[in-house]
Formats: sequence, structure tokens, C-alpha cells
Amino acid sequence: MKTDVLIIGAGGAGLTAALAAKEAGVNVRVLTKEYPTRSQTCMAQGGMNAALGNVSDDSIEAHIQNTLKSAHGEANEEAVRYMCSEAPNAVKWLDSIGVCFSRTQDGKIAQRTLGGASAPRACYAQDYTGLKILHTLYDKCLSKEVEILSDRYLVDLLKKEDGSICGALILNIRTGELEHHFAKSVILASGGYSRIYDKQSTNSTASTGDGIAVALRAGAKLLGMEFVQFHPTGLKNSSILVSESARGEGGYLVNSKGERFTNELAPRDEVSRAINEQMLKGEEIFLDIRHLGETFIDENLPQERKLAKLYENVDPAFDLIPIKAVAHYTMGGIEVDNKSQTSVSGLFACGECANHKVHGANRLGGNSLLEIIVFGREAGKAAANFTFCDDKSKSEFDCRKEDNFLDMLKECKNEIDFYSKRSEVGELFYKNVGIIRTPSQMKEAKDVISKLKEELPLMGVRDTSKVYNTNLVEFLEFRNMLDICEVVVDSALERKESCGAHYVQAE
Ligand SMILES: Cc1cc2nc3c(=O)[nH]c(=O)nc-3n(C[C@H](O)[C@H](O)[C@H](O)COP(=O)(O)OP(=O)(O)OC[C@H]3O[C@@H](n4cnc5c(N)ncnc54)[C@H](O)[C@@H]3O)c2cc1C
Repeated sequence: MKTDVLIIGAGGAGLTAALAAKEAGVNVRVLTKEYPTRSQTCMAQGGMNAALGNVSDDSIEAHIQNTLKSAHGEANEEAVRYMCSEAPNAVKWLDSIGVCFSRTQDGKIAQRTLGGASAPRACYAQDYTGLKILHTLYDKCLSKEVEILSDRYLVDLLKKEDGSICGALILNIRTGELEHHFAKSVILASGGYSRIYDKQSTNSTASTGDGIAVALRAGAKLLGMEFVQFHPTGLKNSSILVSESARGEGGYLVNSKGERFTNELAPRDEVSRAINEQMLKGEEIFLDIRHLGETFIDENLPQERKLAKLYENVDPAFDLIPIKAVAHYTMGGIEVDNKSQTSVSGLFACGECANHKVHGANRLGGNSLLEIIVFGREAGKAAANFTFCDDKSKSEFDCRKEDNFLDMLKECKNEIDFYSKRSEVGELFYKNVGIIRTPSQMKEAKDVISKLKEELPLMGVRDTSKVYNTNLVEFLEFRNMLDICEVVVDSALERKESCGAHYVQAE
């Protein structure tokens, strides 16, 4: 069957787009490098914003104003208004397809307060919100017979002579073969790029910015790449997230002296800087939720307790949790219009890889799950509509020039181990292009990236086998990460003034 809409990524954004495109009556194929239910969306804990006013007064206008304030003038008000107004419908839709949101005593969807929100607005399923959403979307896709193929890695986009997109070049990880997937329109829903910070990130290892790097190579415009959000509460040793819901439910941040030093529910950029400042003074920082009580913690924050026990060897019901601020969310991405259309014809984007101009310089907790549903649906509809007025044909594309790509890669010399370079880049970016940045630190990071790009032909893969060659996939990811790092540091150097998550300190 011929594919009309090809979607790269099976996280919340990709699966939502797939359902919307299918509903519009076109043939949809979803490709993903990992198994769909492992996509990072399943890690989202705290909740999804919608001004339902179920537990106290709230309004869509308050949601809009909170979002705009946190965005520091970098969001598009019309897009924010649209997203916040659609939020109640988005939650209603998820509820209708079976997402098991936590409930109040009187059966309404429960809501909690996350940072920067003027009311309890985040709808949640304990602290497994993303997992419940993703698994329900996946079930729905299966029941609607959406074609989903995993272990397929997007290498590049296929372009016609006129510059429009007509499909994707894919590495089939199972066989090691390159495949050409043709379609009338392509949606990138491939997630963010926080993994450029390597282990100093809460993100899944898949968040390597592949789709953004590929879009850049295809000529698409990127926007706001300097805006990387650092989350205040990553576990100190593993960077695994302790959700903002822990502070939303009443948790405190304290230093080694047991003193509180910030408003725990201020926007994330402010809280992360406050933590950073304390650490520079030699303080250790802890999250304290002991006063919430064991029963409350087990009912509302079961995952947080489990993760802290497993990865930090502390029990939050009785112990302080050691934390640090780590890279968590990337506001920057592929620039799209209000129909999720990129600057390249036939190419759409949604989810964390896209910049819909709703988060600006600092995303509010709970607004990402919202964005992937609201704009995922828009992207699916728009990409489906695009196919109705399209007359592209496969014959216009010349496949031959792509065929020796993998052989070329395998000829790289492998004199430099790219895994150690990946870790070094992560540490360097955390220090130099992190919570606080000085011009000379950023310049140093830029020089390192330029040198590494020159050295790429000396890296390459050690394993030249075909089947499940993870060494090859990780090298392709690293190549993309270097492209992303370059854009991040260039955009950061270009923006001289501090703005939200981009905080520049004079030398
Ligand atoms: C620990 C954690 C907690 C969070 N909690 C919240 C929260 O409570 N509320 C909230 O609003 N937000 C939260 N977020 C943010 C939110 O979860 C993400 O921004 C959102 O889920 C991103 O969805 P997505 O569909 O765009 O991308 P993802 O879910 O990351 O999916 C990306 C998909 O693209 C695929 N892919 C990537 N590269 C390729 C390639 N080269 N080839 C083929 N496929 C590829 C992946 O396999 C995956 O299927 C949290 C994030 C983290 C890390």
C-alpha cells in the first residue's frame, strides 16, 4: 500500500499525529528507532496542563498569562492562546480514549500545581502520566491499524529536484539495509536534543536531536536552539528526574544547613539558577518531602520514591533526596507555522523537535504533554491535507546517489573513540553552555565542536557487522549531536542578553 503520510517518531506527538492523519482518511506509516512504548513520552511524570478548574478556580486566560510570562517574550501569543484554549478538549479526548487520569473524591480529573502556575492545573495519572498517555495512544493506533515499524533509523530526508520532501532514507537496524520510504508528506516527531548534555540530562538516550539535524541538512529553518531548560531536581548521581509534582505537592528545597533558599514553585529557570548559586557557594542541595508522609507519597508519588530508593539509595519518606539541576527539555527546534508546516515544502514537524513558539525561552511544567497532543493533531491533519493537493511521483527521485552511504561510513578510520568524545562534549556543554554561560565559555565550546567535526573521519565505527549494529546507530547519533551542538552554541553566542533559560554572565 502506498504511504501518504510518513511519520518519524512514535512518541506522544508522532502517535497523536498518526491518529489524526488516519482519521482524515489517508494511509499512514510510522517509523521509529526504538519500540514505540519506550519513547521518552513514557517518562513524563508530573502532568498535563488544562484549566479545568476541578480543584480550585482557574481560567484559560490565567493559563495563557502564566505561559506567556514564563516564555519571556519569546512565544507567539496567538499560538499560546490556541494551545491553552484547546487544552480542556485535549484532556477530554485523552480521557475518552482511555487514559486513566487520577480522580478527585467526587470523580473529577484531579489536578496539581506545577511551577509557574497560578492554580492547580496539571492533570495527572499518579506520577506515571506520560506512560499512561503513550500506552493508550499506542493501543488506539493498533486498534485503528496504523502501520508502525520499529528499529528504523532516520538517516536523511529524500528530496525532489524542486527541493520538496518526498520521503526518508532509513536504516533498517534489524537487517542493516538502507530503505527508501516514499510518501506525499513527512512529519518529523523525533523528540528533543537534551542528550547533547550526555549524562547531565534527565532524558532518554534517544533524545539526540536526529530529526532536527536531518531537517537542518534538508534546508529547514531552526528557531530558539539556545533555549535549553535545566530542571531543578535531577537525582544527584544519575540525573534521573524527580518530578516537579514533588514540589507541587508541598516538597521543599534545602541546602546543607537545612535552610530553604528559593520559592520552590517559581519557573524552572529561576529555581535552577538558585540551586546553581548555592552549589557554587559549596552547598549540597536536597529535596525534602518527608513531611508529606509515607501514605501520601505512596499514593501520589510512587515512582519518585521507587527511583530515589533504586538510584540514590535514599527513601524519600524518611530521608533527604540529594539533587542537582540538569538538562531536561529543549525549547528550540524546527521552526513551524500554526499548521506545523516547516520552511521546506512537504515537511511537517510536531512535538519536542518542533518549535511552535509556545514555550519561548522557558517552558512551563505540564505544557509539553499538552503541546504534543494539541499540535500533534494539527500536524496530522495538515500533513494529510497536503497529500490531497500533491502530485509528486517516486520516479522523479534518484535513489542511486544514496546507496554507498553506509560503506563510506564504515571506511572511517576509527582512530578516535567517539564514545569518550560524546561524554566530554556532554560535560563541556553542561559547564560552558549550561545554566549560566559566559561569552568565553561559549567560544571555547564552539572551538571544541569545530575540531571534533573536522576529526569525524578519524572516528567511525568499530563494528562493521550488519544486523543490530548499535555501534553504527550511535555513531550516526553522535554525528547529528555535533551538528546540533554547533547550532546551539552559535545561537547562544548570537543572543547577547539573558533571556529565560539562556542566562549570560559578563566575564
Ligand atoms: C523525565 C521526564 C519527565 C517529564 N515530565 C513531563 C511532565 O510531567 N509534563 C510535561 O508536559 N512534559 C514532561 N516532560 C517532557 C515531555 O515528556 C516530552 O517533551 C514529550 O513527551 C516529547 O514527546 P515527543 O513525542 O515529541 O518525543 P518523544 O517521546 O521523545 O518521542 C520521539 C520519538 O522519535 C523517535 N526517533 C528519534 N530519533 C529517531 C530517528 N533518527 N529515527 C527514527 N525514530 C527516531 C524515538 O524512537 C521516539 O519514538 C518530561 C520529560 C522527561 C524526560
